[in-house]
Amino acid sequence: MRPRSHASFACVALVFALAGCGRTPNPVVPSFAGSIGMPHRGVLTGGVELPREGEGFEWLRQDDRHYAIPRFVAAIERAAAAVARERPGAMLGIGDLSRAQGGQLLPHLSHRTGRDADLLLYLTTLEGVPVSSPGFVHVGNDGLAWDDKGRAFLRFDVERQWLLVKTLVEDPEARIQWVFASKNVRALLIEWARARGEKPDTIVRAMEVMVQPQPGGVHDDHVHVRTACAPAEIASGCEHTGPRRAWIDAGDAAADPLASDDELVAILQELFAPLGGGDARRANASAAR
Ligand SMILES: [Zn+2]
Repeated sequence: MRPRSHASFACVALVFALAGCGRTPNPVVPSFAGSIGMPHRGVLTGGVELPREGEGFEWLRQDDRHYAIPRFVAAIERAAAAVARERPGAMLGIGDLSRAQGGQLLPHLSHRTGRDADLLLYLTTLEGVPVSSPGFVHVGNDGLAWDDKGRAFLRFDVERQWLLVKTLVEDPEARIQWVFASKNVRALLIEWARARGEKPDTIVRAMEVMVQPQPGGVHDDHVHVRTACAPAEIASGCEHTGPRRAWIDAGDAAADPLASDDELVAILQELFAPLGGGDARRANASAAR
């Protein structure tokens, strides 16, 4: 058994080493990959394209703006399919995600690292018949919207929209950090969820992630969904910004319980052995460069 102080020092060294991974390639993580940087300043490698259409979803525009990190694409597909299975007959309209290589995507400030997606709102006729969303249609505080030609009223489909948000925030792989939405859209959805007796935990998650951004547009014509970096993604260059979500952190902790001091020392020695021995002091110095 090692002295406690040695073990603690090793822990600090390991934390330094891992924290450094997000910024600079180093012996532990030799290169960047995936979602690199921050949503408003970054790029994407290894992104996959959300299919043109799938179970319960379709692109709004036929262009090259539908790339994201694979697990986020899969989460969007799962959520759209869940809505389609529970309430068949509607399609989720997909707006911009990112370009294949990420980077600037006007007119958006973000959407640069494969972690953002604009999803159109579900709409129906006044009688409740689903309509394929004509695009970015503004929903008023009464839940009504003019169609794109300004000729007929449409209705915000609160039921399907809630199903989408619920599926996303309950999906651990989706790691939903934000669902930017207008105050009205948020209020309609939360009111619906409460009236339906949805799980309090799910409602709390939805209330936390649904925010009308300032600045960034009202978001009464779509929701903008962002996924948070996973620990392994952070090690490859994904930079976390903004609030952390307790349920995401709890899921990470459960999936990878903290190793004991002795285990950390062993990991550290193994990682830095090729650098000239298992001395934690030397390892720390290497990682800090
Ligand atoms: Zn957006």
